[in-house]
Amino acid sequence: MKYRLICIECPMGCAIEAEKEGDTVVSVAGNSCPRGKLYAENEVICPMRVVTSTVRATDGRMLPVKTNKPVKKSEIFSVMKKINAQKVTPPVRIGEVICRDISDGADLVAAGELL
Ligand code: SF4
Repeated sequence: MKYRLICIECPMGCAIEAEKEGDTVVSVAGNSCPRGKLYAENEVICPMRVVTSTVRATDGRMLPVKTNKPVKKSEIFSVMKKINAQKVTPPVRIGEVICRDISDGADLVAAGELL
């Protein structure tokens, strides 16, 4: 199966063509650097994304949050349900863990502060 992708690893946005046979990537073309090849291989086999969102605080303010590493794209709906169930009590410092192991070992952490 052939895939046409736009690399999102940097602003150049290279157009990449990848080909997969079974569970193996057999060719990658169009990337300008090794990061693009790795991106294409991961995107075709198991796409991953860092999830960003917000969590409501007990005082009504919103805290920006993100996963501290990429999670499987197929798990994003489940991760969003868990994020929507979170509530934080200020003060919250940047980098503080809001929910440990929200998906496959990734933690949900504060991406901002509520003082
Ligand atoms: S292939 Fe390399 S240069 Fe091209 S968008 Fe991806 S990271 Fe940037």
